[in-house]
Amino acid sequence: SLISGDSIRQRFLDFYASRGHKIIPSASLVPDDPTVLLTIAGMLPFKPIFLGKIPRQVPRATTAQRCIRTNDVENVGRTARHHTFFEMLGNFSFGDYFKKEAILWSWELSTKEFGLPPERLWISVFEDDDEAFEIWHNEVGIPVEHIKRMGEDDNFWMSGATGPCGPCSEIYYDFHPERGTADVDLGDDTRFIEFYNLVFMEYNKKDDGTLEPLKQKNIDTGLGLERMARILQKVPNNYETDLIYPILEKASAMANISYPLADEQTKLKLKVIGDHIRAIVYLISDGVLPSNIGRGYVVRRLIRRVVRAGRSLGIEGVEGAFSPVIAEKVIELSTHIDSDVKIKAPRILEELKKEELNFVQTLERGETLLEKMLWDALSNAEKSGTVPCLSGKEAFLLYDTFGFPVELTTEIAEEQGVTVDMNGFDIEMENQRRLSRAAHNVVKLAVEDGANVTDNISETEFVGYDTLSTQAVVES
Ligand code: ATP
Ligand code: MG
Ligand code: MG
Ligand code: MG
Repeated sequence: SLISGDSIRQRFLDFYASRGHKIIPSASLVPDDPTVLLTIAGMLPFKPIFLGKIPRQVPRATTAQRCIRTNDVENVGRTARHHTFFEMLGNFSFGDYFKKEAILWSWELSTKEFGLPPERLWISVFEDDDEAFEIWHNEVGIPVEHIKRMGEDDNFWMSGATGPCGPCSEIYYDFHPERGTADVDLGDDTRFIEFYNLVFMEYNKKDDGTLEPLKQKNIDTGLGLERMARILQKVPNNYETDLIYPILEKASAMANISYPLADEQTKLKLKVIGDHIRAIVYLISDGVLPSNIGRGYVVRRLIRRVVRAGRSLGIEGVEGAFSPVIAEKVIELSTHIDSDVKIKAPRILEELKKEELNFVQTLERGETLLEKMLWDALSNAEKSGTVPCLSGKEAFLLYDTFGFPVELTTEIAEEQGVTVDMNGFDIEMENQRRLSRAAHNVVKLAVEDGANVTDNISETEFVGYDTLSTQAVVES
């Protein structure tokens, strides 16, 4: 039988515990760090230690850290490997072991503990990192064809615009070795999956962009639990692992559909629901409530995306809300991810219900407004003898203020014989994006020791329900 997600997590932690690492529970998704909005990697809780600001408690640690990456929201369901919420398994050295041990253990874990066939594994190293290349090639015995030197974008890891960073080396799994070794692109989602990243953390990136060597050399690693589960459970994507699939099944049942028989568009919506609802539950559990700023805004937008996806699948709720019913499934599966979730369940479900009902009301107000706009468009057209049309501004107002996806507006308008000025809509959208980007530059999301990021994120940067733009970090 196939190994469960829960046992992958446990075996990772045990593997490193037996190599001198202390198992430390996951920290909150809300970092104790003003320079980042949310916990985006396992290293974040240890940042002050890496920077030498506080002394280490132990030389080695291992964790299963809950993470959120809003920069991957558009990838959800579209790639087989990205989530907004996921668990990052990590082993850390605080000025203790360095490259060689990190590489040898990562290999032993991958090939012995988890039994991945060595010939299926590929390695990336930072272009200048001859030392890592040599260790992989000479000590581990990886053939040179399976080691790729890659540039800063992929192989120099930073937790933000400033802070501890360093060259990294990644392990990829090959689902299609029959495709050969010529012209290989490790970023090809149909063939490879990156599952383990080893960061050789030896610099602090300063405000002015310079790299200052840290007093001690550290190891920071991240292995995506859902990705390892996908490989070992031999399913086509992370969503079909035992960590997430039960949530998809729950949503499918509520929509009266069968996931395996569903078309790709429907599957995408189910994956969005399954992904986001996990993020929402764990964020609320860590104290982030829906609001119009900062972290609260991330939750709000995730909830709205879930509500829209669910409504478009025809999911009916209980007392008008369906998301709490699906959230119950997440809570059921939460035991080893966050033991607090079960205790906080009533509060989480209540918040979710309130927010969903609120949003549905907004959507309904939008419908009333749309009816009025259509009526006006039709009567104006009749008076002037032109083709009835909704302006880009009108469609954008519905989208921006009332959460109306433009496809919905177009669909309803067409039923009444009214067209929508899509060019005009795109122009409005682009304007809004430009404004929001400008706001970001001013906010400067990663100033070290600066003002609290979440206080600075303006309420007006809303760029629509499909885009989550409050990501406070740059990551590879
Ligand atoms: P990718 O290139 O696939 O986007 P990454 O290079 O951004 O991944 P890292 O920052 O190196 O990822 O994070 C370490 C590990 O965490 C990755 O190797 C992967 O296993 C996992 N991981 C990263 N982002 C995600 C995500 N959005 N969803 C699930 N797992 C992730
Ligand atoms: Mg990568
Ligand atoms: Mg990486
Ligand atoms: Mg990424």
